[in-house]
Amino acid sequence: MIKYLEIYTERRTHFVDITDEVKEVVSRSGVDEGICYVYVPHTTAGVFINENADPDVRIDIENTLEKLIPWVSNYRHVEGNAAAHIKSVIVGSSVSIPISKGKLLLGTWQGIFFAEFDGPRTRKVIVKIIEG
Ligand code: ZN
Repeated sequence: MIKYLEIYTERRTHFVDITDEVKEVVSRSGVDEGICYVYVPHTTAGVFINENADPDVRIDIENTLEKLIPWVSNYRHVEGNAAAHIKSVIVGSSVSIPISKGKLLLGTWQGIFFAEFDGPRTRKVIVKIIEG
């Protein structure tokens, strides 16, 4: 089964915790054993798994990416959002999480984040549940 999530981002860089939405898709799928594949079909956004307990972790990630890849630099891309494309490549476009006994096998401190790098926008996340 496949499900499209709609994500509304509010800033140029905005990490949205989508863990609960993804868990909901897994639970509705009725799949006990398998893989949950989360995919972002955008070139200036990404998805990652990291700590969702302390909100300062995502701020540190955001600030460090900003320092490494500033919005304004000597980029060639005429659209003016080269930094967002580069951050998207670094963060990646998909994550896979095992499902066992009907639950995502995320670690205690792990959450799934949609990473916006050229917002605010309405975005799509594709969640595919593979039984097996
Ligand atoms: Zn562009």
